[in-house]
Amino acid sequence: MHVLAFARTDDPVKAIAAHAQDPQLAFIAGGTDLLGLIKARAALPERLLDINHLPEMARIDTLPNGDLRIGALARMSDVAAHGGVRAHFPAVAEALLFAASGQLRNMASIGGNIMQRTRCAYFRDEDGLPCNKRRPGSGCSALHGINRNHAIFGWSDACVATNASDVAVAFAALDARVVVRGPNEERSIPFADFHRLAGDAPERDNVLGRGDLIVAIEVPASPETHASHYLKVRDRQSYEFALVSAAAAVAADGRRIRSARLALGGVAHKPWRLTEAEAALGGASLDDLDALRSAISVSFADARPLAHNAFKIELAQRVALRALQIAGARA
Ligand SMILES: Cc1cc2nc3c(=O)[nH]c(=O)nc-3n(C[C@H](O)[C@H](O)[C@H](O)COP(=O)(O)OP(=O)(O)OC[C@H]3O[C@@H](n4cnc5c(N)ncnc54)[C@H](O)[C@@H]3O)c2cc1C
Ligand code: SF4
Repeated sequence: MHVLAFARTDDPVKAIAAHAQDPQLAFIAGGTDLLGLIKARAALPERLLDINHLPEMARIDTLPNGDLRIGALARMSDVAAHGGVRAHFPAVAEALLFAASGQLRNMASIGGNIMQRTRCAYFRDEDGLPCNKRRPGSGCSALHGINRNHAIFGWSDACVATNASDVAVAFAALDARVVVRGPNEERSIPFADFHRLAGDAPERDNVLGRGDLIVAIEVPASPETHASHYLKVRDRQSYEFALVSAAAAVAADGRRIRSARLALGGVAHKPWRLTEAEAALGGASLDDLDALRSAISVSFADARPLAHNAFKIELAQRVALRALQIAGARA
C-alpha cells in the first residue's frame, strides 16, 4: 500500500515554498488526472497539497483591453460556460466542451488540464513494460509497438507520445501565456514554450520546476481570437481523447485571409503550431479550397509517421482545413 499524507493551504507563499523544498510533494487541484496516475502507480508522491483554497485563482476575468485571464483553479465547465469566453474566444470554449465528461469538467481545473500527462497506454500500464516517461532509461514500448494514437511530428526514439489536452491546442493557436509564480518571481511563459518536446528527457512534459505554481492563463484579444474554432476527431463522439484535433483562428478582409493561426492536437508531445502553413495562408481566399489545402500541406513536409499512424497525415490536414473554414465563416 502507498501511504499518502494530505494537507490543505490557502497561502500561496507557503504552497510554493513547500513544493520547492519537498520533491515528494504534489499539488492537487481537481485530482482527476493525479489520482488516476497514483492508482496506476505512474506517480507516487508521498504528500498531496490541496491548492483549491488559494485565493483569487478560480476567477475568470475579461480585462479592460479585452484580454482574457483564466485563473488556474477555474473549472473547465465554468470557463466553457462563461459568456465572454464563448463570445470572444470560441475556440477555448469549444475545446473544453469537447473534452472529458460533464462530471469531469465540473471537477477539473484549467491548470491541471494543461499539466495532465499523456494517455500513452504503456505509460499508464502497471505491468512494467519499458517506458522512458515512466521509468527513465527503460526504453519506449510504443516506438515499435502499438502506436496508432502517437506522434507524427517532433518525436524522438526516446518517446513518441502525444499531449492529451484539448484546450492546450486552443491556447497555443491563440498565443496564450501561462502565468507562473515560483519561489523567487512571477513569470509569463508563451504557451508555445510551456510544453516540451520529448527529446532525450521524456519524463519532463513542460518547463516548470520545483516550487512553480500556475496561477493563470492569459489569452490576448485580437480579431483572430473572435473568429476561432476548435475541431476534434476521436474514435467515439464523447468522453474520448483526440485522435487528431485542430484550433484555427482567422482575421480576414472580406473573404481574403489577412492572418491565420493553426495548431494541431494529437500529433506531437506538445500542441503543434503550423507556422509555415500560417505564412502560406496569408492573402488566400477562404473560397479557394485548393489554395487552402496547398498552404496547409506545407507544414506536413516534416511529418514522420510511425508504423500504425500514417493515416494521421491526411486526417490532420483535413481537420485543419475544416477548422479553418469554420473559423473563416466567423471572421
Ligand atoms: C476519463 C477521462 C477522460 C478525459 N478526457 C479528456 C479529454 O477528452 N480532453 C482533455 O483535455 N482532457 C481530458 N481528461 C483530462 C482532464 O481534463 C484532466 O484530468 C483535468 O483537466 C486535470 O485537472 P485537475 O484539476 O483534476 O488536475 P489534477 O489531477 O489535480 O492535477 C494534475 C496535475 O497538475 C498539477 N497541478 C494542478 N494544478 C496546478 C497548478 N495550479 N500549478 C502547478 N501544477 C498544478 C498537479 O500537481 C498534477 O501533477 C480526461 C480525464 C479523464 C479521467
Ligand atoms: S511513447 Fe513515451 S510514454 Fe509511451 S511508452 Fe514510449 S516513452 Fe513511454
